[in-house]
Amino acid sequence: MRPSWVEQQLCARGIVDERVLDAMEAVPRELFVPDDLRDLAYDDAALPLSFGQTVSQPYVVALICQELALGGDERVLDVGTGSGYQAAVLAELVLEVHSIERLPELARGARVALDAAGYENVTVHVGDGTLGLAAHAPYGGIAVAAAAPVVPGALWDELASGARLVLPLGGRRVQRLSVIERAEDGPRLVDQVPVRFVPLVGEGLGRY
Ligand code: SAH
Repeated sequence: MRPSWVEQQLCARGIVDERVLDAMEAVPRELFVPDDLRDLAYDDAALPLSFGQTVSQPYVVALICQELALGGDERVLDVGTGSGYQAAVLAELVLEVHSIERLPELARGARVALDAAGYENVTVHVGDGTLGLAAHAPYGGIAVAAAAPVVPGALWDELASGARLVLPLGGRRVQRLSVIERAEDGPRLVDQVPVRFVPLVGEGLGRY
């Protein structure tokens, strides 16, 4: 039996990947939300973080993980660490997670939460994720937690063959969570779902 929040927020909306459901169940979300909002940790909502950022809604995190179609032995890149929650769910699903955050204070907080939850297979980096993270590329999946008008070229370059990049594409108000696969003959758009994320801010948005 799954907990009722998993049934209602995830299963009922089409999250069917058992590994993703197990991962969502395993991560203690209360460790990743601000102390005064712990009572709301399993609510069906994004929650505010400092610096105007947000902890993503559980359903959206599960959807991103399901769309990445992970087998379990990948090294993945998580752009926009924020609270570290998405990174923690990914850590349940793959061997190695590299997560990059532009705001050092948030990266520090995420590291503390990830340590408290025991995720040793996550490395948190401070930097501009629109420029990618070449040191550990290629990635067997890339998740982006902030909206961009275009696909950052560096992220495409660092995607392994056959792997997927999941990112919200669009402007400030209207965005689509877009699933792009690195097929033999170039990018293949697999799926698009309407969502709302904070903006991706960085230097690497203008190359393509
Ligand atoms: N995955 C997070 C969601 C955080 S919100 C979670 O589960 O909590 C998105 C985050 O992306 C914010 O923390 C923001 O600071 C960060 N961000 C925005 N532009 C970025 C960039 N170019 N590189 C890295 N992080 C970025």
